Parts: sequence; structure tokens; C-alpha cells
Amino acid sequence: MEGINIDRYLRHVILPEIGYQKQKELKNRKVLIVGLGALGSVISVYLAAFGVGYLRLIDFDRVSIFNLHRQVFYKQKDLSKKKAKVIKKYINEQNPEVFVDAIDQPLSYANFQKIFKDIDLVIDATDRLSRKFLINDVSKIYRIPFVFGSIYRFEGMAALFWDSACLRCLFNERFDAPSCEDSGVFTPISIAVSSIQLSLALKFLLGIPFKKNTLFVFDFLYDSFFEYTIKPNKSCLCNNIESLKDSLFRIRDIEVKKVNKDLDIVFDLSNVPALKNNRDLKKLEEKVRSLANGKNRIVFKCRRGEKSLEYAKYFRNLGVNCFSLINGNESGCIKSIGIE
Ligand SMILES: [Zn+2]
Repeated sequence: MEGINIDRYLRHVILPEIGYQKQKELKNRKVLIVGLGALGSVISVYLAAFGVGYLRLIDFDRVSIFNLHRQVFYKQKDLSKKKAKVIKKYINEQNPEVFVDAIDQPLSYANFQKIFKDIDLVIDATDRLSRKFLINDVSKIYRIPFVFGSIYRFEGMAALFWDSACLRCLFNERFDAPSCEDSGVFTPISIAVSSIQLSLALKFLLGIPFKKNTLFVFDFLYDSFFEYTIKPNKSCLCNNIESLKDSLFRIRDIEVKKVNKDLDIVFDLSNVPALKNNRDLKKLEEKVRSLANGKNRIVFKCRRGEKSLEYAKYFRNLGVNCFSLINGNESGCIKSIGIE
């Protein structure tokens, strides 16, 4: 094992709970951070500063002006640049001893095997519940510790799921959680949640005891702090790894280059409401069935490829041969039809 620059990490090394040997071992640990917004940008920069040797960062978003008031590692001059590239550059300059693998794609059913390869721990810093469940399921299957974090207005929560209960034991997939994009966020709550996630991740990596099966909950509007014991749910999908695997591997996204422009029917869902709010589902079903006609492949697309994935799952369960276009409209122009 290579040595480390002890001066850089001195304030950690002199803690008896850490010491030189554990600090040195951090250099060989590989952490995946999904999402580089208010939580992920902070977590990745600090994990690099702490000396975690390999970081895989995944985010397909670009820096927007409304990010800057809380995502302070992005600067005015970074506007419109890919977040993954900006954070990689920041880390390379802050701690050149850390290797950064920056991926500017969304995590999806099509790429999770590659993204989770050889990872010691995954940190959820996304703001979409569908992605949190995907991270949860993949980490359960591959037995990777999963640090969960979530922020909503003045509220936040964090937990480390490992070897017992999972996110599905706590929340139903149909739980209606609006994102920061839709509901706003009080910046100090994102700092608090990222700090708890950092602490849990680092303690796990260093082998320092941490509170297992505990959900930490904060409400900064009322200045209240709670912790709950997370009990494994006997009816949770995580009790049956085979059906969890089935749900992960059965639904496939499709890349734009694999769409057959002559034979596949690309159906645009951009103007269709989310599945749970769709009051005209019967009408849509009829339309999709008539298009599929028992032989055509339907490729659903939407703005980013999340809503289309929900619909693809729904219609697959009805026996329609369908896919979801990865990255939706962001993957480029493709001829499509939609609801008149
Ligand atoms: Zn579970």
C-alpha cells in the first residue's frame, strides 16, 4: 500500500479513533455518489479532502443560476457546465491524491451494473424517489452499504442501510414526495443532512461504530431533531432477493442508437401527466395497445426518461412490448408521436 502525505490529514490522524493506519486505508476505498446537487456536491468534495482514494460521481445536470445559493462549490463562471465535470476539476485541484471517475449520465436500469461495479459504499444524493429506490435495490442485491439522504423544504433525514432494513421497509414506492425543484429548500438543512451522511459514510469506511438501523430526522422550521429505529418490514421486497433482482433486471431502458427508426414506434409522453395523476389512463391504454398491435415495439420518451420508465413498467405488466428511452429528449432528436 502506498503511503500518504500525513501532514495533509494530520487533524484526522491524531484522533485516536482514526490514526495513521486507518487514514492510509481510506486511500484504497471506492465510494459512489449519485447526484451532485445540494447534498452530493458537498459530500464529494469533503470525501476527497478526507482522503477517500476513489470517487465515482454521477450526475447528468448542468449548473443553473438557482443552484448557486446552496451548491457553493459551483461558481458563476460554471453556469451551463456539466456538474460532474466541474466537481471533478474542483477535487483534482483540492486533493490531487484522489482519483475521480465523473459520469455525466443519469443512473438508470440500463447502466446500474457498470456504475456500481467495485464500489465499497454508495451515497444517495438524488432528489427523485424513483432513483433512491433504484439505489436501494441495487445496493441490497450487491450487498453494498447505502447512505440515504433526503431534504424537503425545512426538513431532512439521513440513514445508513446495511445488513438489515432497507428504504422500502420505511417508505412505499408510491409515497408522494415532491422534489426540491418543486417545493424549495432551506439551505442549512442540506448542510446538516450532507454532514450526517458524511459522518456515517466515513465511520463505516474507517470501522468506527455508528448507530445502525437509525433514521435521523431534522426539522429546522421548529428546530427539532429526532431519531427513529428502523424496523425490518417482514413484507418488504428486500426479504426476497430473487424478486428484487427480477424487478431490476426485467425492465430495460433503450439507448437512442438502438431504436429502430423504421420499425419502432416512439411515443412522446412529455405532455402526459405522471402515471399516478393520469385520469385518462384507459384512453392512453387503448391508444398504446392499438399502436403496439401485438407486434410493434413501443419506445416511450419524455423530458428526462423518468416518467417514460414508469409508463414502460406499467405497460410491460399489461403485456405490451415497450421500452423507455434513456435520457428522454436530452438524448437527441427522434421522430415521435403522442396523444392528439
Ligand atoms: Zn426492506
